[in-house]
Amino acid sequence: MRTNLDHDVFMKKGKSEPDQIPFGYSELSHKRKTEGYNAQSTMREIMFSSVQESKKNKSAVKPAQAPSPERLRRDANNAARIKAVAEGKSEFQGQCAHHGQQTFKIKSKGEEHICIICRDKHSVKQTIKRRKKQVAA
Ligand SMILES: [Zn+2]
Repeated sequence: MRTNLDHDVFMKKGKSEPDQIPFGYSELSHKRKTEGYNAQSTMREIMFSSVQESKKNKSAVKPAQAPSPERLRRDANNAARIKAVAEGKSEFQGQCAHHGQQTFKIKSKGEEHICIICRDKHSVKQTIKRRKKQVAA
């Protein structure tokens, strides 16, 4: 009884398998077995491609990891301003993109800051504008 059942299962398996598995697939698995194309080398390929992936990801996120000098300058100025505001000061020493190390005035209730030279230039421009307006009017 039992041997008959086993025999039946074996027969069914042997009969159906070649039909179900595509030719290309069985050819490939045969190749892997015969040419030492084993699980280990497949693993190596997966590792290699994942390394390639992470390299791609690294270069994609590089700008965020290495901020630009301008970004660093702004961050440093913001940090210095926040510290100065916390200490009740109205100015701090910061780096201006145009004038280098300068005294910065804190404005807008501690939310903004401006280099005193930039501020002076800005106010000079405004004064010139005002004068021109007055001349025109
Ligand atoms: Zn400036």
